[in-house]
Formats: sequence, structure tokens, C-alpha cells
Amino acid sequence: MASDKSFLNVVTKKEAMYDVIVIGSGPAGATAAMYLGKAGKKVLLIDKADFPRDKICGDAQGRKAAAIMRELGIEEGYRKLPGHVVYGITLSSPNGTLVDVDITTRDKPAPGFCHRRIVFDEYLHNCVKDLVDFKIFTVTDIIIEDGFVKGVRGKENDEEKEYRASIVLAADGANSMVTQKFGLNKNPPDHFIVGTRQYYSGVTGMTDRIEIHLVKSLLPGYFWIFPLEDGKANVGLGMIVKDMNDKKINLKTAQLKEIQENPLFKERFKNAVALEDIKGWNLPLASYHRKCYGNGFLLLGDAASLIDPLSGEGVGTAMISGKHAAKITLEALDAGDFSEKFLQKYDERLWEEIGPEITANYRLQKLGKRFPFLIDKMVGRAKKDEKFRKRIEGMLPYAGGREEMGKDSFVEELQQME
Ligand SMILES: Cc1cc2nc3c(=O)[nH]c(=O)nc-3n(C[C@H](O)[C@H](O)[C@H](O)COP(=O)(O)OP(=O)(O)OC[C@H]3O[C@@H](n4cnc5c(N)ncnc54)[C@H](O)[C@@H]3O)c2cc1C
Repeated sequence: MASDKSFLNVVTKKEAMYDVIVIGSGPAGATAAMYLGKAGKKVLLIDKADFPRDKICGDAQGRKAAAIMRELGIEEGYRKLPGHVVYGITLSSPNGTLVDVDITTRDKPAPGFCHRRIVFDEYLHNCVKDLVDFKIFTVTDIIIEDGFVKGVRGKENDEEKEYRASIVLAADGANSMVTQKFGLNKNPPDHFIVGTRQYYSGVTGMTDRIEIHLVKSLLPGYFWIFPLEDGKANVGLGMIVKDMNDKKINLKTAQLKEIQENPLFKERFKNAVALEDIKGWNLPLASYHRKCYGNGFLLLGDAASLIDPLSGEGVGTAMISGKHAAKITLEALDAGDFSEKFLQKYDERLWEEIGPEITANYRLQKLGKRFPFLIDKMVGRAKKDEKFRKRIEGMLPYAGGREEMGKDSFVEELQQME
């Protein structure tokens, strides 16, 4: 019997070595872990939080996220989560003109949703946790040997522990410990947004569209009201850190000012009830192309700075990065090559997919800041010209990502518009 036991111990010790460690079970990490778990790899997924856990966000998910879930076979369950369907966008321009832009007709399946992240992330987590080993574990350091990442150190139930793997995927969010460790978190302040969120009930005039209000004082940032289940709303705003510092804007004060004084909103919030204090969090923008790979590791989602610089959409790109990270990881495991040189393909493929839209939206973000009258022109024209509005519909970030909006030809067209 004694020898049987020691044999078991050896097996257990050997099994502590994983193919892959994924840090963070948000949209990026859960997606990567799901692809790898389905491929039969030995994956350790770790998160400092247990689920359900909150995440400060606008709570809107578009077609990019849905496409990944469809590929993973989990879209149907996602569509049934408590939340709100999204068929389009209500846009207001700096001069206060409002236009409704629909992505599709109501007889078609909803192209987008607003699911609170506490619900959405728990759903993703539940879809992945049986495919992998999951541990509540706070990573405090990275194990590096011979110039390669070999695993993680951290705390599990107040105990110091370490786990090892052939490769580590860091999906630990905007304040990523791994990104800091490698000095890769150096976005200049014009490539970082700070955003706020406050849940409300009783905001009047809510529809099945998300509302993006390009109010003058926040440009190229915006104030949003997104519909949630049971008459609740996600209300927030986002602003580029550099502009916020230059204009000395306090985001909480700015948010309350919009709600209480802006003629577009003040009546709608008259009897509304705030369900929490205003909370804030960082959005690292993809307008800054951060290096996202190195010997034995990859960065995913916010850790790789992949948020759309115009819309603030980060869930879709985080999930796309999860897909590409899983793919190159499978290839690296097959080749037994975890070198920076081999993993560089991750960066190339990821940016081939998301790059053109990010570039176009970054151009538009800069244009909106310098020439707010162009936004007024675009929204004003869309309001009175149905054909033009239909063109805009296909270009909107949450509609699935088109590149046309940032192109020279489109901008010139706007400039020449009456
Ligand atoms: C105010 C605001 C509004 C936004 N609105 C939208 C929106 O409407 N739509 C949209 O698409 N995007 C939006 N975004 C962006 C979106 O929230 C992010 O892009 C998205 O969450 C990125 O996913 P992720 O998996 O990379 O990181 P996260 O979702 O942040 O997940 C990171 C995970 O890592 C874990 N973790 C962190 N550190 C450690 C550690 N040391 N050890 C172990 N685990 C760790 C965390 O607990 C967490 O679970 C918004 C962001 C903000 C701040």
C-alpha cells in the first residue's frame, strides 16, 4: 500500500505542470481558456476573484463578441441572459441634434445586447470552468528562468504558491500585473481613457437602442445611457486622460452636471434613482499598439491595450485576442517553441483582424476632437437623409466594425456637406 501511495504522489507532482496558465477569467482569459480546454490542453485558469464578480463597464456587447460565442457554441445561452436587446444607437451631436440609427429591423435577432458584466462574465466563466482547472489565486509575481516566463507566484487561500506551465497568457485587465512587470504599460495619456459607471432605475425615454451623446465638454469622449433589464440603465462617461488633465475635469462632477443641467437629459432623470455611487476605471486604448508577446508569454484584452479608441468597446477585441492567443499557443505547444520570435505571429494575426477598424476609429476620434462641427454635420445630415443614415448604420463600431467611417473620402464628403 505504501508504495502505491508514493506512486500517486509522484503523479500528483507531475500533474502540477500545466500546458498553459491563463491569468484572469474576464472575456479575454475565459475565451482563450475555452478554446484551449476544448482542444484538450491542460489549462490552469486563475482569477483573484470568484464569480460572479462585478466589472466596471458600459455593459454593451456587439457583434464581435457574439461571433466568438457562436464559434464556441455558447451564443444561445448568452442570448437568454437577463439584460436588454440592442437594435441600434441614438446619437447626439455636440450641438444637441439627436438621431436614431438602427443596425437591423426588429424582425431579425438582436445584433447586440446590454448584459451587466456581473452576469455576462459569470456566464463565460461557467462555460469554461469545467473544461480547465480553475483556482482563486492572486498573481503577485512571474517566474522567469533562462529569460523565459515559466509560471506564476501568488496567493491562494492566504498561502504562497507557485504554478508552472509551458506558456503564460496574461489576461489580467487594465492594471495588468504582468504588463507592469515587463514595463509594457507605458501608454501615453492620450491613449488612455478613464470611464465612470453608475446604475440607475427610473430614467425615462429608454428604448432598445444604446445612447451615445457626444456632448461638447467631453469631446472626443462621450456620455452614455445604455438600457438594462427591469427598467434599469447603465449611465456613464469616458474621457481621454490627457484631455481630462488639460481641462482639469472631475469626471464625477461632469457626469452629475450632464444629468442635472443638459436639456437633453435633465427631465429624463428627474425621478430617476441612482442605485450606486459613481465608480471609475481605466481603458487602455488600441490607438497605442502595445507589444503583446515575449519569451513564454502573451498579453490579451486590456492587458494588451485593445480598447477601441472611439467607442470604448473592449469586450469584443478582448475575445478576439483570446481566440488568436489560443491558436498560437496550440501551435507553440506542437512546435515546442515558446520564443518571442515564434509568438510574434500572435501580434501580426491579431492586428490584421482588428487593426484596420482601430486605425479608422482613431482617425475619427482625432477628427471629432479637432472639428466637432463635422460630427454636427454628420448627425444633422443623418437626421434628414434616410439614405445617408443607412450608410452610417453599417459603419458604426457596435454594428460590427466597418472601416469606411475614418477614410479620407468619407471625411472629405462630410467637409463638403451643406
Ligand atoms: C467605464 C467603462 C466602460 C466600458 N464600457 C464598455 C462597453 O460598454 N462595451 C465594451 O465592449 N467594453 C467596455 N469597456 C471595456 C471593457 O470593460 C474591457 O475592455 C474588458 O473588460 C476587457 O476584458 P479583459 O478580459 O481583458 O479584462 P477584465 O474584464 O478586466 O478581466 C480581468 C480579470 O483578471 C483578474 N485579475 C486581475 N489581476 C489579477 C491578478 N493579479 N491575479 C489574478 N487575477 C487577476 C480580474 O479579477 C478580472 O477577472 C468599458 C470599460 C470601462 C472602464
